[in-house]
Amino acid sequence: MFFSTIRAFFSSFMGWNCPICGGAPFDGEDSHFCAECMRSFRFVRNPVCPSCGGELSGILQICPDCLHAGRKFPWRKAAAVFIMDGFVKDVIYRFKYRNQPELARVFGYLAAGACRSAGIHADLIVPVPLHWVRYLQRGFNQSELLSEEIGKNLKIPVRSILRRKKWTGQQAKLNRDARIQNLSGAFAISGSTNCKGWCILLVDDVMTTGSTLAEAARVLLDSGAEEVNILVLARRQRN
Ligand SMILES: [Zn+2]
Ligand SMILES: [Zn+2]
Repeated sequence: MFFSTIRAFFSSFMGWNCPICGGAPFDGEDSHFCAECMRSFRFVRNPVCPSCGGELSGILQICPDCLHAGRKFPWRKAAAVFIMDGFVKDVIYRFKYRNQPELARVFGYLAAGACRSAGIHADLIVPVPLHWVRYLQRGFNQSELLSEEIGKNLKIPVRSILRRKKWTGQQAKLNRDARIQNLSGAFAISGSTNCKGWCILLVDDVMTTGSTLAEAARVLLDSGAEEVNILVLARRQRN
């Protein structure tokens, strides 16, 4: 008790407290969530679906989502840190809308771990871009912050080579076909960047159906990328 109080005091003094609840960080590590918050997260458990990075159930080699949708994504491997639930949704909301960039540090650390466990290798990290109107509203791109932290952990360079050239609105309200139609032509490569031969890790905060990531991955592959893998913080999944 005495030592945990001392540790909490020093953690708060050094700015190491859990960025969710302010408690002492897990295992005394700096920039980490506390043990209590770590327990509240639903982490993606192995083995994972090779198609979308979600959890497998039963003996099937593909997750219920991919089985249901019968889809084939353009990336090679996918990894995710959390399964989306109420707690994850709240914490991501803080990250995106309440300007808590310190969350990116811990998220980046955990996402880098998920990337290593999935055996994903890349020579460049590319964040999924926001439309400039959204960027001005928010003041930052959460996927870019996340990418920078993942890049530091994995020692891989980060470049924002994708831009969003079309306003796609709220994808969540559309059905699958309307979603794909809406996303067509949404992304472009910035300037005269040539992706020839690159092995790219595409990063976003949340994956719902995968349509946005699939469209962004296709643009990278069309511009010559050798391979695209994806890494997201949280994914929605049927149970
Ligand atoms: Zn906490
Ligand atoms: Zn899947």
